[in-house]
Formats: sequence, structure tokens, C-alpha cells
Amino acid sequence: MKFSDLKLTTPYLSLAPLFYDRVEPTPLEKPFVIATSQDAAKLLGINEDISLDEELVKILNGERRLKGSQPFAMCYAGHQFGYFVPRLGDGRAINLGKVNGQNLQIKGAGLTLYSRQGDGRAVLRSSLREFLISEAMYGLGIATSRALALIGSDTDVTRQGWEKAAIVLRLSPTWVRFGTFEYFNAAGEPEKLQQLADYVIDESYPELKNTQEKYLKMYAKVVQNTAKTIAKWQVYGFNHGVMNTDNMAIDGRTIDYGPFAFLDTYDPNYICNRSDTQGRYSFRGQPGIAHWNLSQLALALSPILNHEAALELLEDTFGDVYESEYTHLMYKRMGLQTKEEKDLSLLKLMLRSLEQSVIDYNAFFRKLSVYSGKRNEILDLALHYEYLDRWLDTYDARLEKENHTDEQRHTSMLEVNPKYILKNHILQEAIEKAQKEDFSMIKDLLHVALAPFDEHPELEYLAQQTPLQFKNIKLSCSS
Ligand code: AMP
Ligand code: MG
Repeated sequence: MKFSDLKLTTPYLSLAPLFYDRVEPTPLEKPFVIATSQDAAKLLGINEDISLDEELVKILNGERRLKGSQPFAMCYAGHQFGYFVPRLGDGRAINLGKVNGQNLQIKGAGLTLYSRQGDGRAVLRSSLREFLISEAMYGLGIATSRALALIGSDTDVTRQGWEKAAIVLRLSPTWVRFGTFEYFNAAGEPEKLQQLADYVIDESYPELKNTQEKYLKMYAKVVQNTAKTIAKWQVYGFNHGVMNTDNMAIDGRTIDYGPFAFLDTYDPNYICNRSDTQGRYSFRGQPGIAHWNLSQLALALSPILNHEAALELLEDTFGDVYESEYTHLMYKRMGLQTKEEKDLSLLKLMLRSLEQSVIDYNAFFRKLSVYSGKRNEILDLALHYEYLDRWLDTYDARLEKENHTDEQRHTSMLEVNPKYILKNHILQEAIEKAQKEDFSMIKDLLHVALAPFDEHPELEYLAQQTPLQFKNIKLSCSS
């Protein structure tokens, strides 16, 4: 099957016209393919090389339609930095339709009814970041939208000076957001709310169809899925940067990548988004914000479910699901296969030591994965080694209670502790090259993004330590 032979359906258009804007993409000038992910293409049942599909660029650029495609933008609202905005919507993303359970969307495809003051475009810089991080999150085992292809163009847009516009073709089993429900609640449209909930159940939670209290059950699933995704963010040191309710997917996966970052040195107070002056979306704050966002979703759903029961469910499950997912994965990263009473305090002590030591978070775990008593390799990564040195005393004692060999522990730890993390400094290097029309790094980055736990000796340069001037930098959210 070729990409250009796909046949799409548009189930979202069976909802009332208030849900969307039927809109045609506005093509970019002189579009060209920069990168493709064959791995993402597999999701659509494509087995032919998509980079050889001559129609690909035309389809991304809206010059050619896939069979069955009826382009549209979705309407939603959202809490942005805690303040409710009654109408947002896809201001620059245009949905093409659905195939194999994946909704295709071209981001940066031009103006829609929801563009407000925006130009409907996305710049190369942010599109390249979204393309790579979508695939990298998947590579790490974190639920995410995916990216099939990235095109560049000769169209100029103004952001940080003049920049070139680009388009990413992204895929997700759902593009419904918490904010989609917030829109219909605020608009005083309880029937639409119910139609949307039925649509979401069909699309994302079909096992709930024809069950009692299905909307409450749907809400319970959203709570669980969100808690699990956020736990994984915290486990791998991912800071999303803009956790507005319009950027929260109804199936809990990570979507809408903006000024995101992976932690360099372990600093729980890190805030990747330069515009976030209050630190609302700091790394440490993410679980609490997810909880708050879920409480807003409960409110939005209140006309169609028992609001008190939903809030009770949130209190009863979010923290537990989050904690159990988080500790389960962290113990794996630490190489603990048996359970001991003091493991949680060992984990907390480790985090405190990492913070005091000033050490690269993910590099620490990679080194810990091959640790067998020689401390220098780990301690050399730290600015202040004494805290970790002391923690390793406790860790050594704890390892003695494990009943597997060092080798077995190393093997299992290397499977969960990535060697390759898409740090901002490396993305920045790829962006600067791309802006000079050298796209050579992108292929390499995509390769390691999809297999971050493996060794790639020829791509060692992508696993280098973050240069001092780039450590935990803040990013602009202009995109
Ligand atoms: P974001 O923070 O990127 O998720 O965007 C927030 C809202 O602004 C969404 O409704 C976007 O569709 C919209 N938006 C962002 N950038 C643009 C743009 N350049 N043109 C039109 N709408 C935009
Ligand atoms: Mg968004």
C-alpha cells in the first residue's frame, strides 16, 4: 500500500456543524520533503517507502486530496495558564480524515475559522521539533501523537524575524481535547456535550459502549490514562511546557509540542517555557496541573454525569495510579527487581542527591545501568560528587538484597535507561543546520529517537553531554 493510495473516512463530520469548520488548506510556496517516518507510516498500513511517494508533498501541502478526505478544523475552548478562553480551535492544523484508527492532521496548513490573530502557519524550527519529539516519545514508550512527514517551503512568516514556514503531518487516534468538552459546556450545549462524549467513547473507549454510567466510566479512563502518561514524563524528565486544557488529549496521550524540554541537570523546579513567568508548568508541577486540568474536565462534563462522583473518582484514583506507575518505572530504572520496604526512601534520597549533585538526569541512569561498584564513571558526571557517593553506599547495600547477577541487572536497566535523549541543544544544532538547508542531522536524530535504548556507535555524537551554556535553557513558545 502506498501513502497516496490511502482511503480516508471523516467520522467527525457526522457531528453537528458547530463542532468544526470545513476548510481547505492554503498551500505553501515551493514545498519540499524534509523528513519522513516509515515507522509512523506502518500505523496506516503503508508498506511502500513513503519517501519515494511523489504525491506525498502535494498531499501535505493541500494541493492533492487523499480519497475520501474532507478537510476540516476542530472547534475547542481551553484554560490557558489558568484562564478560560471560550473559543480556540485548530487555528493552523487541518484534519484530513481517518484511516486505520489514526486521524491525519496537517499542522501549519493555513487559516481556519479559529485562527484568531494568527497566520495559520508553523515555522520550520517548531515543526522540526514536533516531528522529532513525536517519534522520540514513542521510542521511549510514552503515549503520544506521531509524525509521518515534515515539509519545508519558500514561504516566509514572521516570528523571531523572518522564518520559513513548514508543515508536519501528524497522526493521533484522537484529536479531541479536554477543551473540546469545555467549549460545549461553556456554550450551554448539553446535547452537544453528550454527542461528543458518545463520539469519544466510539473512538477511544469502545469497550464502554452500552454500559451503565458510561460517561463517568469514560472520565475514569481519562483520569487513569492521563496519570500514566504524566508519570512517564516525570520518569524520563520531560517538561511539556504548555499544559493548557486545550493541549490535553482525551485519551491521555501527549500532544501539541511547543517549548518542551528534557531535563539536562536534574532540577525539579525547571520551567522550559520562557513565557511561563509564574512557573505554572514547571517540571515538578506537572502532576498537580494534570489533576487540576482533570478537575476542569469533570466540571465541563457536569451536565451529563454526577459531578461529585467524578471529583471523588479523581481524588481516589489519580494519585494512586500516578504513584504506582511512577514508582514501578523508577524502580526499573534503578535496577530493583525485588521489593523492599525502604525502596521508596531510597528513591527519594536518590532524587535529592541528584539535585544536590548537579548531574545530568538521564546520563546518570545510563551510567548506573552498567554500575558494578566502580563509582567514578558516575561521580565524574556530577558537579558535587559527595551526595551521590553517600547515596551509592545505600544503593550498594540495597543491591545485595537482589537475587540477580550484575549482568542481568545491567541488561534490564539498559532496556529502560535511554542512551539517546532529544535534548534541546542537539535539536537546536539540527535546526540551525536546517535553516541553512542542511537537513543531514534529521535522519540521524530520527534513527536514535526510535531506538533510544540501543547503542548506535556511528551516531555517538548525538549522545554527547549538554554544553554548559545550553543546560536547562528556557525556550520561546513562538512557533
Ligand atoms: P498552542 O499553544 O500552540 O497549542 O496554541 C494555542 C491556540 O492558538 C490553538 O488554538 C492554536 O491553533 C492557535 N495558534 C497557535 N499558533 C497559531 C498561528 N500561527 N495561527 C493560527 N492559530 C494559531
Ligand atoms: Mg495546542
